[in-house]
Amino acid sequence: IVRLVEASKAFTTPEGGTVTALDRINLDVRRNEFLTLLGPSGCGKTTLLQAISGFVELDGGSILIDGEDMTDRPPYRRPVNTVFQNYALFPHMTVGENVAYSLEVAGVAKPQRREKVASALKMVGLEGMEARKPRQLSGGQQQRVALARAIIARPKLLLLDEPLSALDKNLRQAMQIELKTLQNELGISFIFVTHDQQEALTMSDRVAVLSGGRIQQLDTPRAIYDHPVNTFVATFIGASNLFEGRLDGDRLMTADGMAIRHRPCERKISAEATALIRPEQFFLAEDNAPFPTIDVDLDQIVFVGSTFELFGRTAEGRKVVAEIPANRRSLVGTVEQTRKARLAYDPAAVHLIG
Ligand code: ADP
Ligand code: MG
Repeated sequence: IVRLVEASKAFTTPEGGTVTALDRINLDVRRNEFLTLLGPSGCGKTTLLQAISGFVELDGGSILIDGEDMTDRPPYRRPVNTVFQNYALFPHMTVGENVAYSLEVAGVAKPQRREKVASALKMVGLEGMEARKPRQLSGGQQQRVALARAIIARPKLLLLDEPLSALDKNLRQAMQIELKTLQNELGISFIFVTHDQQEALTMSDRVAVLSGGRIQQLDTPRAIYDHPVNTFVATFIGASNLFEGRLDGDRLMTADGMAIRHRPCERKISAEATALIRPEQFFLAEDNAPFPTIDVDLDQIVFVGSTFELFGRTAEGRKVVAEIPANRRSLVGTVEQTRKARLAYDPAAVHLIG
């Protein structure tokens, strides 16, 4: 539905320097796909959305939507709609008038407008709220109005720029699932922007991880989490234990003398690499278990409900974090007393970067 070819954009700063917001981005968004742009503040997410919607003009490269070149097309003639973080509702208009706005501009007759508004409000769970003013709604309800307004004209593509970040955690998690369901029902493509990795993993068919105006990796949530292509992606997408070193057979040897076992690698890897062990891959070793282990002195044990987070240090002084399911609480009780833990891992779960 969308194709970006070598899309580039630089801004001049007030100080007279330049910032590369988009650095030759190539991206294909599929029909009916939920694609998320994930990255830290300032990496170019909003600029990328605005280039697609037409509010930012590219310096180079091109954008096609549904096979048509958008270069000379103003925003209002693109088959695209945007939902913003701050809702951007008209405060003096009712919910119904807000949602109907684009239809009114397009000259749709009143009876049809009323019908479409009712059905759009129903889709976002606000049936019968036409007469309210935005200020008479909660933040979550206002965001739903903004959504209804954006989907009423059935765009081929919906762009969402951090639409949930103003909501509190529980509401945000509920809305994540609702949005995903809505996208399925509508059968249109969503390009969703967030800086929250959990949100990206929860909602997306695919995630594009951005940094410095470049796509670092584009893949399914599982592939991005399990097989990050570089250490930026590894650390941005979740807690990581990274061990840099040289490969030696089925081991990676760190400069300070640790040996990390890994699965035999199919692909050719350079002699220098980084081994990634996610915290939840560690388990508390029973005696004589046939797994490699790392001994740590524990600094902190944090109970977060579903898991315990163990923060420890190896004899070499390296920080290690492990996540132990809360149903292993008797084992955790033991290490809590000794302040020492033997962390085991399966070499098959170790991912090599490099
Ligand atoms: P994100 O949405 O990922 O936080 P943005 O796309 O808003 O990032 O910005 C990317 C970079 O471009 C940032 O360094 C930002 O300061 C810069 N930038 C964005 N818009 C402008 C603008 N209108 N003028 C100057 N610099 C801008
Ligand atoms: Mg932004």
